[in-house]
Amino acid sequence: MDVSSLLDGLNDKQREAVGAPQTSMLVLAGAGSGKTRVLTHRIAWLMQVEQQSPYSILAVTFTNKAAAEMRERVEKVSGSNMGRMWIGTFHGLAHRLLRTHYKDVNLPQTFQIIDSDDQLRLIKRILKSLHLDEKQYPPRQAQGYINGKKDQGLRPKHIDAGGFPIEQNLLQIYQVYQESCDRAGLVDFAEILLRAHELWLNKPHVLQHYQDRFKHILVDEFQDTNAIQYAWIRVLAGESANVMIVGDDDQSIYGWRGAQVENLHKFLDDFPKANTIRLEQNYRSTGHILKASNELIANNPDRLGKKLWTDDKDGEKISIYCAFNEMDEARFIVGRINDWHEMGGDLSNCAILYRSNAQSRVLEEALLHKGLAYRIYGGLRFFERQEIKDAMSYLRLINNKDDDAAFERVVNTPTRGIGGRTLDILRATAKQQELTLWQTCLRALEEKLLNGRAANAVRGFMDLIVEMQQDTTEMSLHRTTDHVVRESGLKAMYEAEKGEKARSRVENLDELVTAARTFIMPEDIEEMGELSAFLSHAALEAGEGQADAFTDAVQLMTLHSAKGLEFPVVFMSGVEEGIFPSQMAMDEGDRLDEERRLCYVGMTRAMEKLYITYAETRRIYGRENFARPSRFIKEIPEQHVEEIRLKAKVSAPQRASKSVVRSRSIVVNQSGFRVGQSVSHSKFGEGKVTDTEGSGPQARVQVDFHDVGSKWLVVAYAKLETS
Ligand code: ATP
Ligand code: MG
Repeated sequence: MDVSSLLDGLNDKQREAVGAPQTSMLVLAGAGSGKTRVLTHRIAWLMQVEQQSPYSILAVTFTNKAAAEMRERVEKVSGSNMGRMWIGTFHGLAHRLLRTHYKDVNLPQTFQIIDSDDQLRLIKRILKSLHLDEKQYPPRQAQGYINGKKDQGLRPKHIDAGGFPIEQNLLQIYQVYQESCDRAGLVDFAEILLRAHELWLNKPHVLQHYQDRFKHILVDEFQDTNAIQYAWIRVLAGESANVMIVGDDDQSIYGWRGAQVENLHKFLDDFPKANTIRLEQNYRSTGHILKASNELIANNPDRLGKKLWTDDKDGEKISIYCAFNEMDEARFIVGRINDWHEMGGDLSNCAILYRSNAQSRVLEEALLHKGLAYRIYGGLRFFERQEIKDAMSYLRLINNKDDDAAFERVVNTPTRGIGGRTLDILRATAKQQELTLWQTCLRALEEKLLNGRAANAVRGFMDLIVEMQQDTTEMSLHRTTDHVVRESGLKAMYEAEKGEKARSRVENLDELVTAARTFIMPEDIEEMGELSAFLSHAALEAGEGQADAFTDAVQLMTLHSAKGLEFPVVFMSGVEEGIFPSQMAMDEGDRLDEERRLCYVGMTRAMEKLYITYAETRRIYGRENFARPSRFIKEIPEQHVEEIRLKAKVSAPQRASKSVVRSRSIVVNQSGFRVGQSVSHSKFGEGKVTDTEGSGPQARVQVDFHDVGSKWLVVAYAKLETS
């Protein structure tokens, strides 16, 4: 392939970075300036022009989705298959190392990854065994403590709790937690990174091997690396590797999870020869969107400071919609998407972003109501659904009987008479004798520690696991999965339950068999059996690539998971004080800056059109709240904004002073009701009209009742009273 085409479609600064001599580099630039593009072209350049083998390149991205995209982009630019190249997330790459070197890091070959849910269960169990009160030591706090320490590279032995009893107890929880994970061959997310780092430190020959191999290390979204991730890269790079990092301090949004923007400074200290290249042209967004984002982020202190400009036209102003409540908001968004779709636009060009996962439900309902396909990234993760986790736990047990987290989850699911008391005895014995739960059961049966009924029930469970294991030894992965889903009794259990939810659970179990059938064994990890690989895949990939990628669908995701992505049309919803910025951030002053960066990330996802919506009242987390528009909205200069009001007569007068665009004026329509009107119903009580349709005998109104939620009613029959 000819060299010039690698530089085509790049500006001077980008070319400077892509075609730089082999050295370390920092590309520091704002959103949409082509950082990821530069990184991708650089990889191709190294191979094509510098004749470097793909084998010598390590590229780190932030999500599996980004890694897959990067692989694809590199393959496209370079025209060759990148199968052997290490491109992945920190966790994915570290996991690959642990699989290959499980002995060097003291893990059993069948070690399994536990997610934060499993982790929390384990911690709860440990609190109990240590007789610590959950009120005084909330399990989530202990979890945060453990993960925080691991992110800093600290083992219990490195921590000095001083004379503080609370800290001492947290440390003890960490210690006992770690011991039981080690016994059971379980590895949490933070542990993956920590162990991979320890591998470098404790096994110099392994480190040497990888140092000899990886001559080029490239890291995207560097601003969100935490201490242990940076340390891992730092050690691997040694004195000779060329490290290229790209990042944007204004997009650092994982401070709450231990990410350290200071790593940018650290990098410059550690790699004094590194060049800094700044990119200043934005290619993503139209003028109004870009200028508004720049103005917003300018409110943050301590920025490294970047200029960002665009050649593009100003485009449309940012539309701000003040909704009456969350349902009105959802309906507005879905209405706009529907208009876009009817005019020939793809649904997948539209993204709805929100601050927290709980906000998605109402949006989903509105999309369903309109019959628009949608896909959720994060949140409703397939592999996180209850029934899937149950089935996976059985698979995990037949893979490794000592997997305590899996044991806990399904020992009595479906119910088989193993009650809380029996489990308490088992847990206490396990703790005391330093055994896994499975080993404890063996011993309990041998030494008759359980009464007859309990012993029988436990024996029944163990027999089931052993039988399933034997039956499936020769089976393919998907037949194994199918077998386990049936023989465990899970499927029958959910089939026996009534209702929509149970039905979808059964469908999900069926889908799991399909997932196993279509699972492609990673070529590079020969040490691992197919089942182990599948289990790890489930743990690592939860949520990504879940939905059918071929259907045109609206994309829903949290602002956090939108990082690095771009969409022609973006809706930022729920932009209200207390939601965005979140209440927690408002209570702790220093976190407001991070929320603002998150807002900057959200706004800069939009290429052509950005909508920002908020509601005057919102029912969320089971409560109804009056909301005020977010301070971030007020930080956007008026010249970039147009306000949309569909219901000018109803809304609060104080906001009417701004320029008002009445694209549709609903006052009193043919149903005889207007949106926002208070009504009461003899059975459902008080409520407010949120939508109307039709006229005469067909007229219907949607009412959001205080007690029973939203309902569509036929006006002719409902006998609504107005107040
Ligand atoms: P973020 O900070 O959000 O991750 P980024 O800096 O990584 O953004 P990219 O995603 O690489 O930016 O690029 C943004 C968009 O601009 C992409 O659609 C990309 O293809 C396009 N782009 C980048 N550089 C150029 C260029 N020189 N000419 C035309 N388009 C470009
Ligand atoms: Mg990027």
